[in-house]
Amino acid sequence: MNSMTKISEEQLSEQRAIAARIRVGNRGSDRSVLAFVDTYGCQQNEADSEIIRGQLNEMGYAFTDSESLADLIIINTCAVREHAEQRVLGNVGHLIHTKRAGQIIALCGCAVQQKSVRELVLKSYRHVDVMFGPHELWRLPEILEKALNAPAKIKTVEVRESDGERVDGLPTLRKDGPDAWLNVMYGCDNFCSYCVVPYIRGRERSREFRAVVDEAKLLIAAGKRKITLLGQNVNSYGRDLYGETRFSDLLRTIAELEGDFTLHFRTSHPKDASEELFRVVAEQSKVDKSLHLPFQSGSDRILAAMNRGYTAAEYLSKINRLKELAPNVSLSSDIIVGFPGETDAEFEDTLKIVGAVRFDKLFTFIYSPRPGTPAAEMPDPFTRAQKQTRFNKLIALQRSIDARRLAEHA
Ligand code: SAH
Ligand code: SF4
Repeated sequence: MNSMTKISEEQLSEQRAIAARIRVGNRGSDRSVLAFVDTYGCQQNEADSEIIRGQLNEMGYAFTDSESLADLIIINTCAVREHAEQRVLGNVGHLIHTKRAGQIIALCGCAVQQKSVRELVLKSYRHVDVMFGPHELWRLPEILEKALNAPAKIKTVEVRESDGERVDGLPTLRKDGPDAWLNVMYGCDNFCSYCVVPYIRGRERSREFRAVVDEAKLLIAAGKRKITLLGQNVNSYGRDLYGETRFSDLLRTIAELEGDFTLHFRTSHPKDASEELFRVVAEQSKVDKSLHLPFQSGSDRILAAMNRGYTAAEYLSKINRLKELAPNVSLSSDIIVGFPGETDAEFEDTLKIVGAVRFDKLFTFIYSPRPGTPAAEMPDPFTRAQKQTRFNKLIALQRSIDARRLAEHA
């Protein structure tokens, strides 16, 4: 069991008291005080933004999708690839044109945890007033109060290096409609050599089994029809808390709840995807029959350099077992093209897996060096143009597989 700090009920109630103070101020205004929350990146960020909205709701904010009408803009950023970071910064740059006196612009999320990004924002994006990292989410009322009281031009920057804390029970404002995210764990301990997530999001912290099941019951009672269990590697669920993984158990327990819903989950790491998990997927009628199982590369040398913890043959044998148990399963995957030093022959091994498995959907990325990760230090003799050629070849192969599938079903 790990003994990570738990945010206490007193700490949370202090934040609630600050939220109540801000609410009084906002309600005192002669019009609605408006917030705009914009989200980039993965489902984890989508779920975090629902917590941000929940907190803002408690602080008496109403919501808008208009940058120019908003009194407060919060941009929840992504850092997984350089392109994602640049896209956010480009859009933040545009906000200088719509910024009004008194408007507060805040950046939060993964990009903010990167020192280089914070320095760039402080130097070149002077219209940004607040930055806070992913570990500060529960302290949003305190951070906002500080920013609201700060003299103009003074920036509020709240970022800590942290393994992450345990925090549960934050207010959440989910979007209307039948879909709901349900966090089961935070952080990642896998340290794939290309990936910045473990450095930014901290160590794995599972939520308590009961807390997750109870929240699922509430969601079902509230009419949610598609519930997605979320974590960077859901198969590790429970290890930090119970000394053993309990994801299959959690999935089964929720799938057996009364009600009309389907249960999805993201993401599964192949090294921990177990026979037991496959059985639950196969046997439980409410568990969705599509599995996202990212293999990243078909070359054993590259997989080892990525620190993925499985070989191509092991991956394929898991897929075969899954298909035996659940023949109607549909599969998707993530692939990285152009990992440092990946040769043409090694890339061809990736194509072989794509051809053999015939995924229903692929998410394909050209490798992007992330500062602070081991892969960013590895020699990389191949040019961007060479990687782009491979990438195009991969897309063409997947297109032909899609076309064949369509023809077969016509
Ligand atoms: N935890 C999830 C996904 C995390 S990020 C998992 O392990 O499956 C989503 C995808 O982004 C990864 O699966 C990987 O394919 C891609 N990715 C992550 N870091 C990357 C990088 N530095 N360059 C290119 N793609 C990357
Ligand atoms: Fe990144 Fe690997 Fe963790 Fe996924 S499992 S978040 S790719 S380190």
